[in-house]
Amino acid sequence: MRSALLSTCFLALVLSLSGCQDTRPVAEEERPLPLLLISIDGFRYDYFDLAEIPAIQRLVDGGVKADGLHHVFPTKTFPTHYSIVTGCHAGTHGVVANSMWDPDRDARFSLGNREAVGDGFWYQACEPIWVTAQNQGLRAGTYFWPGSEARIRGVRPSFWKLYSNDVPHLERVETLLEWMDLPAEERPTFLTLYFSAVDSMGHRHGPRADPVRDALIDVDHHLGILFEGLEERGLLDQMHILITSDHGMSWVDFERYIMLDDFLDLSRVLVSDWGPAAQIWATDTEVDEIVAALDGAHPHLRVWAREDIPARFRFGTHRRVPDVVAKADPGWLISNRPFMAGQRQFSLMGQHGWDPALREMHGAFVVHGPAFAAGSRIPTVRSVDLYALMTHLLGLDPAAEQEGSLAPFLPLLNQTTPADIEQRIYDCQGERLEARIGPAHMGLVFQEFVHVLDRIEEGTDGSERFAEVDLRFESQGGTASAEIDGRQFSNCRLVIADR
Ligand code: AMP
Ligand code: ZN
Ligand code: ZN
Repeated sequence: MRSALLSTCFLALVLSLSGCQDTRPVAEEERPLPLLLISIDGFRYDYFDLAEIPAIQRLVDGGVKADGLHHVFPTKTFPTHYSIVTGCHAGTHGVVANSMWDPDRDARFSLGNREAVGDGFWYQACEPIWVTAQNQGLRAGTYFWPGSEARIRGVRPSFWKLYSNDVPHLERVETLLEWMDLPAEERPTFLTLYFSAVDSMGHRHGPRADPVRDALIDVDHHLGILFEGLEERGLLDQMHILITSDHGMSWVDFERYIMLDDFLDLSRVLVSDWGPAAQIWATDTEVDEIVAALDGAHPHLRVWAREDIPARFRFGTHRRVPDVVAKADPGWLISNRPFMAGQRQFSLMGQHGWDPALREMHGAFVVHGPAFAAGSRIPTVRSVDLYALMTHLLGLDPAAEQEGSLAPFLPLLNQTTPADIEQRIYDCQGERLEARIGPAHMGLVFQEFVHVLDRIEEGTDGSERFAEVDLRFESQGGTASAEIDGRQFSNCRLVIADR
């Protein structure tokens, strides 16, 4: 689609117009099916059984559901949402935290800073799908999504909204239906919808608490109104709908805080983000000094200089990736004494932001529409691969810098029989490994972690190999071996197999 439009974009740039917004629109009869991307903030991978959620369940029954959605590091709202729509890891797209610092501009970004949130400067390094769509002649309508208020590479969605928690859910879904009722030349083909209430209740009351369940029921109720409206218009089965969430949620408590100022002189560093992972800049000291001060300082703290961050975190090389990352173990938080002195006990019961492989950090993934067989089930998928899936569904050429892959989804497209997961449990000399194997990738479950590995090759002897950076799994007959974060698992014996 892109090639036919290049000349228009080129002309727009030469004339210093704002990007390619004036690109020739794709005629209605050539347009792909609409795609709606939904995010239910903080919907953990295991919330599907939290309540009766008939609207979401309808898409699960009629579409594809993954075990979970493995996000990027850090597992926070802005980095993870922006990865979903760009296919880039956080250290590539540059939205490295909800609170971040840009060393070139000497400027700070935070969620509550309206000016920063709407400033394209923070989002330029990768291209969100609404920009890809607009540049290739489709229109986009976003009812909230991190980045959607900003002009990115000169382009904004045709319809977008200034973020506000307070907009009633009914208004959001009714507006979406109004957009679908527009004349063909105005109607968006790519749409987003976002709800924050499940995350807010998760922070306040903890994962799976009753208020979280009630918030989820309310979101599902409004999705039901939306889906009925789409059905009345004959659209529900003539479009693709993707339900995602940006991370999960873990319990926290006052007994599990690590005070950074116990180990480090905070007047000599800049800490741009706190919580499950602290992002630290050596403003008035040396990186080595910070690492030396924090290394081994607390049994639940890990510390890395930028270049030593484990490869599987794929944090990247953007200038906003800090000099030092200090990461707390699951359930632990990093803070400082002056801040905590002002905190009320029990004001925070749930949090997220830890290692993206931690299962409790995993979000939800459901996709529904004509490209997919009803009732398909697949292992945990990676959020960076969703841009590749979405551009494929929309017939768009993806941006060159994106880092995801369509491969995990290819075997699902245009099939009549639903995909299923083959489950195998191995005993590796007393350690339990669970392999959840799909057509093109697998979920490798070890302790509280679920890793995603790609299928590499299949031998004629029935052997299978899967890999991802720092991760490996190989099986043949009833035995397997694996590598996870440098740990070797060998002579693993198949104890349970379920196809
Ligand atoms: P987190 O704790 O990382 O899950 O952040 C969740 C919060 O992000 C929500 O409660 C919202 O208030 C905020 N948020 C979500 N989307 C946006 C947006 N587009 N602009 C500003 N704030 C947002
Ligand atoms: Zn969130
Ligand atoms: Zn949150």
